[in-house]
Amino acid sequence: MTLDVERFRSRLQAERGRVLGAIDNLRHESSLEEEVDESLLDNHLAETASVTIDREIHYSLEENEARLLAAIDAALVRIDDGTFGRCERCGKEIEEERLEAIPWATLCIDDKRRDERG
Ligand SMILES: [Zn+2]
Repeated sequence: MTLDVERFRSRLQAERGRVLGAIDNLRHESSLEEEVDESLLDNHLAETASVTIDREIHYSLEENEARLLAAIDAALVRIDDGTFGRCERCGKEIEEERLEAIPWATLCIDDKRRDERG
């Protein structure tokens, strides 16, 4: 199998740009919330609580995006060192359809399924 790594590289870079934009947006929205927060009075505890929950959701979204960003960066490194598309665990080539769906995948479908089964 000969992978067109350059095609995956541009997909990963595009996805990377999208993730960076998403993180930026989340950070921007969080800082807007902080401004609102400061203007809240003590008798608005309920609202304060819901802002806190929103913020937690934001943080976990940001965390997800940050994790994705790390996975994308790692995949770009693997393209450079020539190990892209190889399963981290068994060393076999990852199915091309799988890479099409998840270009930053590190495991072949067999190992991934084994993982999910625990
Ligand atoms: Zn494998």
